[in-house]
Amino acid sequence: MKPKGLVVLRRLLRWRILLRLALLALLALASLAIVWLAYTGIREREIARLQANADGRMRHLSALLLAPAERYSYLPNLLGNYRILNDALGAPRDVTRARGANHFLRQLNERTGTSLMYLLDLHGTTIAASNWDAADSLVGRNYAFRPYFTNALRDGEARFFAMGVTSRKPGYYLAYRVKERGTTLGVAVVKIDLHLPDLGDSSAEMLVTDAAGVAFLSSRPDWNYRPIWPVTAAAAAQLHRTRQYEGVLKPPLAPAAGRQLATGGQIVSLRGSDGATSAWLIVRRRIADSEWSANLLIPMARVEDIARVGALTAAAGIALLLMLAVLLAQWRSRARERVRSRRRLERAHRALELQNDELRLLSEELRRKAITDCLTGMANRAFFLDSATAMVGIAKRHGTPLSLLLIDADHFKRINDDFGHPAGDAVLRLLAAVLTAQTREGDVAARYGGEEFIVALPHTALRAAGELAERIRARIAAQPAPPGMAGLRITVSIGVAQYRPEEPDIGETICRADAALYAAKHAGRDCVRVDGVEPVATV
Ligand code: GH3
Ligand code: MG
Ligand code: MG
Repeated sequence: MKPKGLVVLRRLLRWRILLRLALLALLALASLAIVWLAYTGIREREIARLQANADGRMRHLSALLLAPAERYSYLPNLLGNYRILNDALGAPRDVTRARGANHFLRQLNERTGTSLMYLLDLHGTTIAASNWDAADSLVGRNYAFRPYFTNALRDGEARFFAMGVTSRKPGYYLAYRVKERGTTLGVAVVKIDLHLPDLGDSSAEMLVTDAAGVAFLSSRPDWNYRPIWPVTAAAAAQLHRTRQYEGVLKPPLAPAAGRQLATGGQIVSLRGSDGATSAWLIVRRRIADSEWSANLLIPMARVEDIARVGALTAAAGIALLLMLAVLLAQWRSRARERVRSRRRLERAHRALELQNDELRLLSEELRRKAITDCLTGMANRAFFLDSATAMVGIAKRHGTPLSLLLIDADHFKRINDDFGHPAGDAVLRLLAAVLTAQTREGDVAARYGGEEFIVALPHTALRAAGELAERIRARIAAQPAPPGMAGLRITVSIGVAQYRPEEPDIGETICRADAALYAAKHAGRDCVRVDGVEPVATV
């Protein structure tokens, strides 16, 4: 069985990992969306820019394209006013009149620089033409199927772009109904060569398409006479009927109409001569007063490139931001870790300080215990010997006196025997208290061992030491019996000696004090004996 806390912790960890994974997936999705938005946004903006640009160019193209036609628009009307032509139309079978008309048309055609001039009778048959003597002469040919003929008869005038059925050359046909005194005589036609104006723009292809959608003027010769995409069935039938592009019509550039953009343009996929398809943006504008349209075909490759660069830049920006975020997160987690470890260190430091304090107290306690006698609480023998050695040094250096008292409780064994060991201890404590009270600061009183005490008296000569010893003896002897020890009289014997400068240490002085103590014991106890001083005989 696993502990419950461990299971909960594992579950929490798993949740945290899942949460992070979900966050990561969300971030990746958002990044992809941003890159995609950048790509499409830039692409659309670029297309809009190209379209706006194309508009201006196409206005220019329309104006330049029809300029020659406008220049000659007066001509068919003019033809109707020449007597010589009207006469020829009035008598279509009159060869002489026709010849006169032929010569006149030839001269006028040469002067005006047009491609062809000719007259059609009411059946659409050419009765006179500027090229009457050429191999491809129009004379005698019937053009009733041409819309410019039928339209001119119906509306008075017509314009039409077509391949010359006879000449096989493309041209713009201007036709005008010829009338005399209310009677329609026929139609006068002027054919003008049309050229695609050079806009000096190599970034796009230009096409002029007719009502059916067939390009008849193109910046690329191989795109001429091709619809951009398949023409409708009705338009195909009409083309066949009017023989407009007879013999030159080619398959469409694109297999299908393109995708219509909201901004008006279209994107089509064109198959090149190498078989590869490429996307093109088509901007189309109707040419004023005609059924023609000007088309600008702009390759999308550059637009795609710009959009791709934009998307890549966005991706790089996102990557940079993510990297910064990761670095920031790492920096923050490191900063948090630093704070945590500093706190840990501070805690450890505080614990160490506490431990140090305890150790210091302990060592002080130990030191105190090492120099203290545990029963009486006064200094012990070791401390006494250290202190006495230091005192000997001072006494030697300064020549000051240093004396010792060696104090021994009398018949102490008996006290133990009579009152018990604890009572003996109590007596020892009493003796210690008296000794401590009787000595002054600077003196060192210690328990020397068993029931023996020792006192070092610096700056004290033998005589004064003897007097102090006597005072101590008398004070102890005067102590009342401790509680529970009725009848007990505590006495001590004291030996006194003074350190002699010739002695190497305190040891010999202690020996002499001991000898004096022994003398005191020998003298009957409860008395003081001073080293080297004979006791005064008492009477
Ligand atoms: P004297 O007058 O000749 O000194 O006789 P005394 O009995 O005092 O001397 P002795 O050396 O024969 O006996 C000393 C006794 O002191 C023996 C020992 O049991 C006792 N004693 C030593 N240390 C302690 C102590 O710490 N507590 C107690 N209660 N007795 C102790
Ligand atoms: Mg003793
Ligand atoms: Mg004793």
